Amino acid sequence: MSALVTTSLVKRFGGVQATDNVSLTVESGQLHAIIGPNGAGKSTLIGQLAGEIKPDAGSIELFGNNVTAQSVVARANMGLARTYQITQLAKEFTALDNVLLAANAKASSNFRFWASAHADTKAVDQSLAALAKVGLLDAKDRTVGELGHGEQRQLEIAMALATEPKVLLLDEPLAGMSQGESAAMIALLKSLKGRYPMLLVEHDMDAVFQLADCVSVLVYGRIIATGAPDEIRSNADVRAAYLGDEVNA
Ligand code: ADP
Ligand code: MG
Repeated sequence: MSALVTTSLVKRFGGVQATDNVSLTVESGQLHAIIGPNGAGKSTLIGQLAGEIKPDAGSIELFGNNVTAQSVVARANMGLARTYQITQLAKEFTALDNVLLAANAKASSNFRFWASAHADTKAVDQSLAALAKVGLLDAKDRTVGELGHGEQRQLEIAMALATEPKVLLLDEPLAGMSQGESAAMIALLKSLKGRYPMLLVEHDMDAVFQLADCVSVLVYGRIIATGAPDEIRSNADVRAAYLGDEVNA
């Protein structure tokens, strides 16, 4: 079964057609990348998938269930987790605190009839496991402010993982990173690939072509091409509309 399916999704902001009949499928176990210029509607699409933005038309299925009218919380409880283009961390708290916050938010809705101590233990275990997965276990007691930018972005992935997600939506996880930080993040995403279906919005072409099983190109809210990285690289429409001289394959 597909992890995520959108059918003819439409979102307008005044005169701007931010999402223009987007039909998209994220297959189970696949990393599906969305590329496109600034303002193409990538973040708006993620917002609709997460339930933060209400589409004007069209539908969204999560693991075969129509969730178009479901809340953010309901979708999170079904296993949807996202990260943001701009970091959303509590700077004065430790790495572990931030991850615990995410894990507890999920646990409290799932286990509200349980003894709270029990839920806490589970949340701590989940949080430590998530920090380990992103390579930040040693940094668990450092405050976010003491972490580098790359580590902060890894921490955001840990927060998503601590909710024990079934699908991940990642909005430009490489944004603003140095080359070294990017390499670490790409390695992390590679390690998660296959374990979680992922929708990756990303500007960094090299990263996308290294990581993705499938790439969709979004221009002015519309998907102009979907295919394997090699097909997208050589697609004439894509090159004309977006890649231009960036890709000299
Ligand atoms: P991307 O993430 O690809 O850069 P966005 O989804 O952020 O693109 O934006 C797509 C278009 O929708 C842009 O023209 C943007 O200005 C517009 N837009 C996004 N969010 C809003 C909003 N809340 N109100 C009005 N216009 C918006
Ligand atoms: Mg964006």
